Amino acid sequence: MSRFFSDRYASLVPYVPGEQPLDRRYLKLNTNESPFPPSPGVLAAVAEEGGRLNLYSDPDARALRAKMAERYGVTPDRVIISNGSDEVLNFAFMAFASDTCPLVFPDITYGFYPVFAELNRLPYTEIPVKDDLSIDPADYIGGGKKTVVIANPNAPTGLFLPLSEIEKIVQGNPDGVVIVDEAYVDFGGESAVPLTEKYDNLLVVGTFSKSRSMAGARLGFGIGRPDLIRDLNTIRNSTNPYNVNRMTLAAGVAALEDDAYYRDNCKKIEAARAWTTDRLTALGFTVIPSTANFLFARHGAIGGEALYLALKERGILIRHFGKARITDYNRITIGTREQMETLVAAIETILKEQGGQT
Ligand SMILES: *Cc1c(COP(=O)(O)O)cnc(C)c1O
Repeated sequence: MSRFFSDRYASLVPYVPGEQPLDRRYLKLNTNESPFPPSPGVLAAVAEEGGRLNLYSDPDARALRAKMAERYGVTPDRVIISNGSDEVLNFAFMAFASDTCPLVFPDITYGFYPVFAELNRLPYTEIPVKDDLSIDPADYIGGGKKTVVIANPNAPTGLFLPLSEIEKIVQGNPDGVVIVDEAYVDFGGESAVPLTEKYDNLLVVGTFSKSRSMAGARLGFGIGRPDLIRDLNTIRNSTNPYNVNRMTLAAGVAALEDDAYYRDNCKKIEAARAWTTDRLTALGFTVIPSTANFLFARHGAIGGEALYLALKERGILIRHFGKARITDYNRITIGTREQMETLVAAIETILKEQGGQT
């Protein structure tokens, strides 16, 4: 820290992204990227739009918001576009949480939530998930005015809360905004977007990073009532009105036009997820039932960190979290069926070697 760093941020602990190593080629199953490339339409759109980089991007993202409105069955004034969904999450924390409307989210969830809370100096409470790592909706109902944040499916567990439960949480917090982070909803979940017609306190957040193979392009969005979107735009226009670059906006439009390609990819990932769940279960893992493009699993004979390190040595990256409650687990991104076969074979070898040593 320099002697100039503001004491406002002296104790800030930044979010630690999953490893993106450059030392060798790994099979990357650690940051929930799609194993499939962007569609040909997206590649063409990016190449074409590159020729217009001398001009600013559309600060209102009109073409993309119109496409989003079509795809999600809402009007464009209910959509905000952001530089990855992390950005719109930060905007939403800034816009809707406060000392009198503190943040509430599970203790086991996306690690960026406490970081955004700390960055903006917002009070927050982490509610323990149940022993089976599931969220109890009753924990988020009543108890005064608050801003609730729920990832659905949750990360890193992959557990999905039915929409009826999300609706109860929204109804149970009429004086605070409920932010539902749907980064993984396309892998078998059900989106809460239709509920935004009915409730003025629901903001749904989504991303093109996972199901639409665009993690490197940084494209996210929020959907809610027009007045919520206006508030988010007040923050956005006070931060960076050109928050999304031209190529990413064009890629987003093209991705929505190629919806069938991405839906098909999601089906392949769901099939590979089912196969991997079966194989890992057969090898003695406890696998949490996932509705996302990853599995959260633990094994009685090998610790989470030990398995992570053994796989890394073999050129396969998965994600281990140091957090006490989940230290036995690893989060494994679902890739192609072939990639998952490679993973399972490596785990089989590691478990055998492990058995030989004891
Ligand atoms: C990956 C992820 C995001 C955000 O990703 P962006 O790449 O910033 O869109 C948001 N929430 C959760 C739970 C995630 O796992």
